[in-house]
Amino acid sequence: MSSITIQNISKTYTANGVRVEALKDISLEIESGSFVCIIGGSGCGKSTLLHTMAGFERPDAGRILIDGKAVVRPDIRHQMIFQNYGLFPWLTVAGNIGFAVDRRHDINKNNRQEKIEYYMQMVGLKDFANSYPHQLSGGMKQRVAVARALAAKPDVIFMDEPFGALDAITKMSLQDEVRRICTEQHKTVVMVTHDIDEAVYLADRVLVMKPSPGHIYKDINIDLPQPRQRISPHFLQIRANLLLDLDMAVRIEEDYVI
Ligand code: ADP
Ligand code: MG
Repeated sequence: MSSITIQNISKTYTANGVRVEALKDISLEIESGSFVCIIGGSGCGKSTLLHTMAGFERPDAGRILIDGKAVVRPDIRHQMIFQNYGLFPWLTVAGNIGFAVDRRHDINKNNRQEKIEYYMQMVGLKDFANSYPHQLSGGMKQRVAVARALAAKPDVIFMDEPFGALDAITKMSLQDEVRRICTEQHKTVVMVTHDIDEAVYLADRVLVMKPSPGHIYKDINIDLPQPRQRISPHFLQIRANLLLDLDMAVRIEEDYVI
């Protein structure tokens, strides 16, 4: 478990003579063990904020601390999961997971296989140990990415629209798995998404971002118990409010009752 402190970070890009203030003076505190979703329209700075937390980008101003230590580069204890899986295509499922196991576990000839199997089991891929990424469906590939990230024994998991390429049914079952595993293992999770249902379903807290300059427009605690019910009135009310925050619905005069 790890807390994340973001202190006054700003980041400006210049491309073809055009300046974009991707992030402006963002400060926030992410509690250890919490599941935070960042949501907002395309180009509002979600990926820039996440990549800065993960040490892939440096802010122009301000700093980020994880457990009180400044983030200056990527760290194996802070794993990133991308939308396009990021698997090694020349390694099998077991090979991809083994790559992380070799780096972060006390292994010997006897227990390496056992550890790889443990992570394959966790994401339901035991029967696919010898398959290569190109032989797997999108959902299975993302399961491997999740297992490989977990095998690196991370304190923090960053995810950038991890289920964006998956069909709705596969997405829902992966959301359940990831939420369950991250809760059981007390991971701190920061997930970027543009899917409102995903944010309300998974997050303890939703940060709504808006662009020009990229900033946090709202910081919302979701006080529904886990696991959640996607069709409860309270869920739908929170979803409706989030749609309004994202300017995707028109506020009407009378109270909106579901
Ligand atoms: P989001 O993930 O919310 O869609 P990004 O963080 O990717 O948004 O981008 C925020 C803004 O910064 C956008 O206007 C984007 O075009 C710009 N941007 C992001 N990365 C770069 C880059 N490497 N060079 C120039 N502009 C960039
Ligand atoms: Mg993005």
